[in-house]
Amino acid sequence: MSITHLGTGSRGNSTLIECGEQRVLIDQGFSGRQLEKRLGRIDLKVDDITAVLITHHHGDHGGGAGIVQRKWNLPIYCNTRTADELGLKNVNLFESLEALEFGSELAILPVPVPHDGADNVAFIASHRGERAAVVTDLGSWTEELSTHLRGCQHISLEANYDTARLWNGPYPYSLKERISGRGGHLSNDQSGEFLAEIVTDATRSIVLTHLSDKNNKPHMAESTVLHHIGEVFTGDIAISAQDGPDFSHHIGQSQLEYLPQRGLTL
Ligand SMILES: [Zn+2]
Ligand SMILES: [Zn+2]
Repeated sequence: MSITHLGTGSRGNSTLIECGEQRVLIDQGFSGRQLEKRLGRIDLKVDDITAVLITHHHGDHGGGAGIVQRKWNLPIYCNTRTADELGLKNVNLFESLEALEFGSELAILPVPVPHDGADNVAFIASHRGERAAVVTDLGSWTEELSTHLRGCQHISLEANYDTARLWNGPYPYSLKERISGRGGHLSNDQSGEFLAEIVTDATRSIVLTHLSDKNNKPHMAESTVLHHIGEVFTGDIAISAQDGPDFSHHIGQSQLEYLPQRGLTL
């Protein structure tokens, strides 16, 4: 099983999970053309995708679900609220905590995530006892979420903002309050605190995702998170940029694989 972030951030999110013949996208917040380009960088076409799973209806996660359904006839999986908010028809509806099976080798479990005005879920992909989690857009976390994430071999988690940069930055006060609230996004510190609860010696790789352009910097996110987990975590930590894909993680291997640069223009 491998994980490749095609890009994460407020201008669009999509993450590819590959396992044997199965190629599942988690979120599709890009235009059809953007998705084609990003998949093209790893020698895939949109037609090669098996299914598209949507975490929640916000445009940067589900805004491109309609186009892949209409243009490429890809099957969409989401919950009822997300389908309603996005106006999607003919989707495969799932309930939280009911595993979705893709072929005989890949299962993906949706777990509820607190996020304002949305019925958001994290996804945990399992293959022969190895688990990889993709968790984004949460202002806080629940014991249930911690329990499911604890000991995953791979964890992709948002680290959205640096607290000082957010509060000293240009956003209006109401937006700062919303981002930092219990239903908003995780700060670098919160992401580190959450990871300290769920990382075990089974955890080999972490990717920090969905960094704010204005309120964060990759080195700040990485150093703040490592401050919280440095004692327990000896694996690989990387940052997913808005314009990916840059690397893939093969679950079970400790080193990430950098993708060759092919002159991608996004
Ligand atoms: Zn988002
Ligand atoms: Zn969101």
